[in-house]
Amino acid sequence: MPRYDAPVRDMQFIFHDVLSLQNYSNLEGFSEATPDIIDQILEEGGKFASQALFPLNKVGDEQGCVRHDDASVKTPDGFPDAYRQFSENGWSLLAKDPEMGGQGLPQILSTAISEMMSSANMAFAMYPGLTSGAYEALMAGGSDAQKQKYGPKMASGEWAGTMNLTEPQCGTDLGLIKTKAVPQEDGSYKLTGQKIWISGGEQDLTDNIIHLVLARIEGAPEGIKGISLFVVPKYMVGEDGALGERNAVSCGGLEEKMGIHGNATCVMNYDGATGWLVGEEHKGMRTMFVMMNEARLGVGLQGLSQAEVAYQNAADFARERLQSRSLTGPKAQDKPADPIIVHPDVRRMLMDCKAFIEGARMFTYWTALHGDLLHRSPDEKLKEKAGDYMALLTPVVKAYLTDRGLKACNDALQLHGGTGFTSEQGIEQYVRDVRITLIYEGTNGIQALDLVGRKLAANGGRAVFTFFAEIDDFIGANEDNEDLAVFIEGLKDAKAKLQDGTTWLMQNGMSDFNNAGAASTDYLHLFGLTALAYMWAQMAKVALEKRGSDPFYDDKLVTGRYYVSRILPEAGAHLAKLKTGAEPLMALEADHF
Ligand SMILES: Cc1cc2nc3c(=O)[nH]c(=O)nc-3n(C[C@H](O)[C@H](O)[C@H](O)COP(=O)(O)OP(=O)(O)OC[C@H]3O[C@@H](n4cnc5c(N)ncnc54)[C@H](O)[C@@H]3O)c2cc1C
Repeated sequence: MPRYDAPVRDMQFIFHDVLSLQNYSNLEGFSEATPDIIDQILEEGGKFASQALFPLNKVGDEQGCVRHDDASVKTPDGFPDAYRQFSENGWSLLAKDPEMGGQGLPQILSTAISEMMSSANMAFAMYPGLTSGAYEALMAGGSDAQKQKYGPKMASGEWAGTMNLTEPQCGTDLGLIKTKAVPQEDGSYKLTGQKIWISGGEQDLTDNIIHLVLARIEGAPEGIKGISLFVVPKYMVGEDGALGERNAVSCGGLEEKMGIHGNATCVMNYDGATGWLVGEEHKGMRTMFVMMNEARLGVGLQGLSQAEVAYQNAADFARERLQSRSLTGPKAQDKPADPIIVHPDVRRMLMDCKAFIEGARMFTYWTALHGDLLHRSPDEKLKEKAGDYMALLTPVVKAYLTDRGLKACNDALQLHGGTGFTSEQGIEQYVRDVRITLIYEGTNGIQALDLVGRKLAANGGRAVFTFFAEIDDFIGANEDNEDLAVFIEGLKDAKAKLQDGTTWLMQNGMSDFNNAGAASTDYLHLFGLTALAYMWAQMAKVALEKRGSDPFYDDKLVTGRYYVSRILPEAGAHLAKLKTGAEPLMALEADHF
């Protein structure tokens, strides 16, 4: 049977040794996050994930959700009870604002907990994950009254939140949204239209569901500039916070889908539902982007989380499965064959997973730390840099970690041979579950376009140039460290390639936008590879200092060297491909395909 053990040691290494969170005690919430408290939260979170959520992962996959004739939706057996425990334990409150009843702890800590919950049961973790995104959007764009009305109950998880963007005719292109909002005399709006593929649109976990809905106010300008954001509760909420009558929003059907069966993916019908404007008229996308950015980092984390659980089970299988003898002669003399972990090609799959996962974890947490700096630092310059990094890195975290997360799950499945393809061992579920992460919250292709089209050029390229300068500083400060040389050389080379690719884009992307489009995915991968090389260099530096005290640090160095020698060379191929420009992609006539 599959297992999941939260990688607490690795998380502690990043928090305490590499990022030294104790040095940030001047930031709100960080002084309470002492190393002891962090360790305790990680341990408890790990236990909850592996003991309460992981056993429900297969149940959720097999049972899925069921819609009844009265439009109610039943989640898989065990989900409501696990959700109750999740809320009662206060897991969703960790990093939330104390004014809303939250504990105000650093977001980076909450990120680690989210990783665990998602590894253990991605379909389950999506319910509180989306609620957090909706909560953040309301906190960013809602009125004080809206914040007070919905904030505390969404922060605690007593009520859930959803995001309603997609309609049958529009996914990527939200300018095509048709859902209509008609102003009422009392200041509310009546919303009419259909949304599709809405995660957690209906469920039996919470007393109320707070839908954030994009719609077009009657007479609004065409396209994206005419979209407004509304809050539409499933049950009306009185001034005293009590639940009132049912709103005219209901689940019209559930999607049959490839994975995340435990998460209800709903068609949502708005039949004159009462909603209230969030923020300004026609400026809905601005607030929704707060939610989308939060959600995009969460989706990157999902890619990592599924890679982790798939890898753990692949490592177990590789130690147990006996097939063939080692190329260099028998290793398990007492057995009829050697465990497959002796074979270099099996090692390739395991090491590819491990080197990606550990680099990606550091990258995600480091990015989350910039989120904390953005919201909590008193230093304006630092805030500006953190904001620039969050904007620049969000598409990279989302798309690179999910592309590679899928590859890792595939490698873990491949390593299992036929056992991977059949369902008993449970590996194929991770491949099916992780697959959606490349699609929702903006497909990975759209993330790449966002990176090259918007994020690179913003403020005259300030974010990317700051990132390059930071890497240069790190290289400069560590160039004399002979033990670190392999990491510094790798980083230097990758950064030079990324800079080369950036210059190429700046010179060729503006003159022909198809060049930018054609280069975008390779550029994003080159960026991801370089970012992970920087993460590995930082981790290796600490591991070198601590080596000898614990084999953990030696393993870290071995894994980091693998990253530099066996994964980082992909940077060269991505640079070569992105420099071909659009011609090889666009040459064929559309009807010649
Ligand atoms: C399980 C599931 C859960 C979901 N949950 C939610 C949810 O909770 N809320 C919600 O609102 N939505 C949700 N979605 C919808 C999801 O966000 C969309 O599917 C996604 O944004 C892509 O839109 P689309 O499917 O219409 O694809 P399309 O927009 O039709 O795109 C099709 C293909 O064309 C490419 N493409 C499109 N435009 C361009 C372009 N300009 N340049 C380059 N390539 C382009 C895309 O990358 C993609 O490969 C969910 C979807 C699924 C399957």
